[in-house]
Amino acid sequence: MTITPTGSAWARPLAPSLAANVRFEGGASAAPTITVSRATDIASFVGGFVAAEGSFTISGRPPSFTFAVGLGALDEGMCRGLQSFLGVGHVTAFARRQAHYDDEVCFAVRSLRELVEVVVPFMDEHLPPSYKRIQYEAWRTRLLDYWERDAKRVRPCSVEGCERPRRAKGLCRSHYYAAFGG
Ligand SMILES: [Zn+2]
Repeated sequence: MTITPTGSAWARPLAPSLAANVRFEGGASAAPTITVSRATDIASFVGGFVAAEGSFTISGRPPSFTFAVGLGALDEGMCRGLQSFLGVGHVTAFARRQAHYDDEVCFAVRSLRELVEVVVPFMDEHLPPSYKRIQYEAWRTRLLDYWERDAKRVRPCSVEGCERPRRAKGLCRSHYYAAFGG
């Protein structure tokens, strides 16, 4: 099926992707134009797919946020479809880790701005009630907290476990004085 998502609010920042024809597995293309309801059907399909195969993770310090879908290499078309459909993220292929494993392919979005402006609005609307949605909502809370702090350019102290704002040399006031005196 060929999809050109138009007419839904979350698709609006995705203009560059709208020209791309997104072909999910199954291959055969339909009409190049699509109604809003058809786009909504596909958004629902993507939401259900994410509920089954997606992950929302946080790692490191300062934190890195990732939305990812990892699949067997035979499903690379699905990953590329997601990338085209959402208009953000990257598809990476991995060689098999052991001889009897399939090669893997991963679609991932790591840009804070793309997560906040594209992934969150999409998931809010289309990720169905599920355990994955509960995980998503906890992840979203931390993402948006971090995004707001980051937007004010106040980063936390680089000392593990310290949440006070960074002042100089990556340290908060008290850790700075502890390290450098004064
Ligand atoms: Zn500190």
